[in-house]
Amino acid sequence: MNKQILSVDIDDVLSHSAKQIMAYGNENWGHTHSIEDFNEDLASMWQVEPDEAERRWLEYIDSGIFSRLEVIVEAREALERLSQTYQIIAVTSRRDSLLPLTGEWIASNYPGIFHQIIGAGIYGNGRPDAHMLTKADVLKSIGSTHHIDDQIKHCAGAYSVGVPAILFGDYPWNRDVDLPETVTRCKDWPAVLEYFDGIV
Ligand SMILES: [Mg+2]
Repeated sequence: MNKQILSVDIDDVLSHSAKQIMAYGNENWGHTHSIEDFNEDLASMWQVEPDEAERRWLEYIDSGIFSRLEVIVEAREALERLSQTYQIIAVTSRRDSLLPLTGEWIASNYPGIFHQIIGAGIYGNGRPDAHMLTKADVLKSIGSTHHIDDQIKHCAGAYSVGVPAILFGDYPWNRDVDLPETVTRCKDWPAVLEYFDGIV
């Protein structure tokens, strides 16, 4: 029997990504942001024009620290368990140019767990509204049966295509949000395992 497909976001679900880019911004461009200030729309977080945000993003990537993102403890063990029941696919907003690096990071930190890594074509597509796009179309096309993401917009996107979602983590950007009826909040990976224990 084919396994059901569990799609999983990468940044701030598998890795402490927000923390790293924020610290880099504080160190290099004089900001004094805390995690409370994080915004996925970097131009808006840094209060700069989109061109400058792009320049800074490329500088950050060129620094090489992105390939050493800190892993979220507990994710690997939880996903190892879930991979016995589900086919696990990473679905990321990262731009396509980062996918090779992303693949290497996944292979060394989550060996043998992910069946596939898919770029949802959100960032790096030149669209000024990129930060508002969701992963809904990708989730639908791969036949995802559950999606895990720290961004409410992607959970809402999942809801719009009939995919139950888990809003992951207790983060400033997802704390005070209304959840669509098929979205469940799980504050950490043990809570995610409890959720799946409850549905099988
Ligand atoms: Mg994320």
